[in-house]
Amino acid sequence: MKKVCFILATLLLSAQYMYAQTSGCEKLDKWIETWKKGQQTYFGYPVNEKSQLHDFYEWYLSTGMEVINLNNAGDPMTNTPDKMSTHAFEREVIEYFAPYYDFDIDNVWGIVTHSGTDGNNHGIYFGANYLKNKTKMEPIVYVSDEAHYSNMRLAHLQNLDMRLVKSDPMGRMIPEELEKALDTSRPVLIVYAMGSTFKGAIDDMKALNAVIARHKEIPAVYRHVDAALFGGYLPFTKHKAMVSHKEIGFESIAISGHKFFGIDSPSGLFFCTRDIYENQSDFNVTYLNGNMRMINCSRDAVQPLKFWWLIQKVGSKGWSQQAQSMMECTAYLKQQLDKIGWPAWVNEYSNTVFFRRPSADIVNLYKLALGYDDNFGGELAHIVVMQHVTKEKIDVFINTLKNSKQK
Ligand SMILES: *Cc1c(COP(=O)(O)O)cnc(C)c1O
Repeated sequence: MKKVCFILATLLLSAQYMYAQTSGCEKLDKWIETWKKGQQTYFGYPVNEKSQLHDFYEWYLSTGMEVINLNNAGDPMTNTPDKMSTHAFEREVIEYFAPYYDFDIDNVWGIVTHSGTDGNNHGIYFGANYLKNKTKMEPIVYVSDEAHYSNMRLAHLQNLDMRLVKSDPMGRMIPEELEKALDTSRPVLIVYAMGSTFKGAIDDMKALNAVIARHKEIPAVYRHVDAALFGGYLPFTKHKAMVSHKEIGFESIAISGHKFFGIDSPSGLFFCTRDIYENQSDFNVTYLNGNMRMINCSRDAVQPLKFWWLIQKVGSKGWSQQAQSMMECTAYLKQQLDKIGWPAWVNEYSNTVFFRRPSADIVNLYKLALGYDDNFGGELAHIVVMQHVTKEKIDVFINTLKNSKQK
């Protein structure tokens, strides 16, 4: 009996494999092979390459959902979510995650976004509207020169005045530089980098808030946190106070869904307080039953379902384990680099290790992201330690580096 089962299982597995091999398009099959192989050494970018959505796709196909055109246009946080959408699930996702950022359920508004950038777009747009509504003045955006470029792009797109504030060598906005840059006669819209892109630095939000608070003459303040990557794992570590709306003091936060959480394509979360939501300009769109506060009309309805699915299947316990293991592997990578005498640096709370740039072959093989900084000897590269960057893979990487040194 056991043997029969084994043969059946083997047949099933190979059938699945064969099925996967015959898309009927050689080009597609080849591309998939390249991607699967490359994924094993995909070290340079902050995406979770161990997505746990296999069952989701099986369920989706088995119910015939693939023929239905789903759309979440409209507000998921209104009292009666639209039945012909996944608004009800989207709202549950927002209410599940809100406490992880220390928002009270009755004082939060949020959506599942299309990406971290989409969340930053809402943060900057909501911030600018809020400040204009409160003061009838145009705000100025402050952001560090090491923050993700999306913030600069979005400030430009929204036609807002922006001041780039210098950061220290490790990548954190310098409080004294913020103080110098401040125009205290106009509202302040500050974007905090929670994870500068190359060095993984977190702006010292408490120190920066204190600088702003010293200037009582500032007409109004709005603080948005760009936490695309770090906002995923920090709530599941002992450093969760770092992303606490109440502890730190911020009005909105954006997080990516395809980074830590393991959604398999771009998506994200956006949260703000009700006060911010209520102080937006109204666009009354009667055919969508109400005020349209979000920027996009059509919105993805499948991503909220994937989030909801992962909450059931991975949940707080799974994410805590993953976050802990990522932190351990980050420390391990840094330690192993130190051991072979390869100059390397890592910021506190960060899963991003940056180091002297290795040869072009290694950079290509591991898809390392590149940087340059004279403070650290010039050419650099970084690894973002995500769920798929395990100790075993780190050992192989270190060996490769060591051998390249001896050449
Ligand atoms: C990745 C990242 C972004 C961009 O997020 P997307 O989801 O790729 O749009 C913005 N800011 C930070 C800090 C990031 O790490």
